[in-house]
Amino acid sequence: ERQSSKEMEQRKGRRLVLFPLPLQGHINPMLHLANILHSRGYSITIIHTNFNSPDPSNYPHFTFHFFSENLPEDGTCATDLIAFLSLLNTRCGPPFRHCLANLLSETSEEPVACLISDAILYFTQEVANELKLPRLVLRTGAASSFCVFTAFPLLKERGYIPIQDSRLEEPVVELPPLRVKDLPVIDTPDPVDLYRVVAGMVNQGKASSGLIWNTFEELEQSALETLDRQLGVPLFPIGPFHKCFPVSKSSLSPQDESCISWLDKQERKSVIYVSFGSLAAVNETEFLEIAWGLANSKQPFLWVVRPGLIRGSEWLEPLPNGFLETLGGRGHVVKWAPQQQVLAHSAVGAFWTHNGWNSTLESMCEGIPMICMPCFTDQRVNARYVSEIWRVGVQLEKGMERGEIERTIKRLMVEKDGEEIRERVLHLKEKAALCLSQGGSSRHSLDRLVHHISSLES
Ligand code: UDP
Repeated sequence: ERQSSKEMEQRKGRRLVLFPLPLQGHINPMLHLANILHSRGYSITIIHTNFNSPDPSNYPHFTFHFFSENLPEDGTCATDLIAFLSLLNTRCGPPFRHCLANLLSETSEEPVACLISDAILYFTQEVANELKLPRLVLRTGAASSFCVFTAFPLLKERGYIPIQDSRLEEPVVELPPLRVKDLPVIDTPDPVDLYRVVAGMVNQGKASSGLIWNTFEELEQSALETLDRQLGVPLFPIGPFHKCFPVSKSSLSPQDESCISWLDKQERKSVIYVSFGSLAAVNETEFLEIAWGLANSKQPFLWVVRPGLIRGSEWLEPLPNGFLETLGGRGHVVKWAPQQQVLAHSAVGAFWTHNGWNSTLESMCEGIPMICMPCFTDQRVNARYVSEIWRVGVQLEKGMERGEIERTIKRLMVEKDGEEIRERVLHLKEKAALCLSQGGSSRHSLDRLVHHISSLES
């Protein structure tokens, strides 16, 4: 104890500069990481784009610097995720460099020990090199899906990608248990953009001083070992981040608290919580199949319908008139939920998710089994691992069809068939809690990270 408080004293007077990718699923873990490192004695500066900026008043203990990201206003960024990521990397260099250089020259501030930036913001490696500042990387996704990204050159060489529709069900023998349809790609007008972003993320990760992961060793040991061999830089699995601090204040949309009072009125483990995260979208037909599947399942449901979830609609217009009313309060729909509190609520019995990595981890940490409906990129790998490796969920294999939805919900939540899955996820919840406790693997990795940061300075 005395030793650690002495170390903490030494770290006081050292500043870390963190730069998140400005998307909800990346901002949340970066700000959690900032809290974790702050609690270990570092001062924290967040550099952020003006776009999608979190509210600094929720983080009075951090310093914020914003810059204008210089993106084209022709709508490309709103409709094409990969173009957006690619443009961030090509356009943000000069304003980010300017912002960071200013920060480094401020003599009134503590000296900066290193930059920690999102893996997808790979352009920052070059800027850090120029400014002679070490860069650590935060990868907000799973280690398992990162192994698939590192295999992209091989997957291209062997003809798996670009994906051909006729091969969707074929196994990828090099990466079991993945099938071609589980590979982390996304529909984009120009696949070259996707390859560029993936290669940038992997190669500039290798050029960094180390990678921090929102995962834990007991969950992804084999993937972490593979990456340890492939990347050649230190790896720090210190997750699950969100369990280190009680509440998250980095939501970009207001979280509808009515969820909690509605959940209070439901029976234990009876509710299916449905949310597809901040980016995924469905078409109107799929939306209606989801609605009818939920209604026919007879389970109470809490459904996040984000404005923008249904392509071509503002919000709930496609629902038949009186649809929710006829369910007599069995269904509650909100625009955005306090997801961590929802998953921790005793009334929730299952999570129908798109398997974004944050949602996947948040579900596991509360012992909630999943119905997996991945949409794109790493969500597909996560879903396959949830159903086939960790076996804490089932995947909707035949797309969105109301009969299958109804059967899957019943199987997972009520029938005997789902019992093992329900038990297994409770076991995983315990493991996740253990790794953060005294002597746990993530605590140990965090100690290693703190030492590593000190060694970068000397
Ligand atoms: N989230 C939330 N309210 C919602 C839906 C999601 O607060 O109604 C949070 C969720 O807890 C998670 C993040 O938004 O931390 C979504 O990240 P994820 O990686 O699951 O998916 P993405 O949005 O990046 O696709």
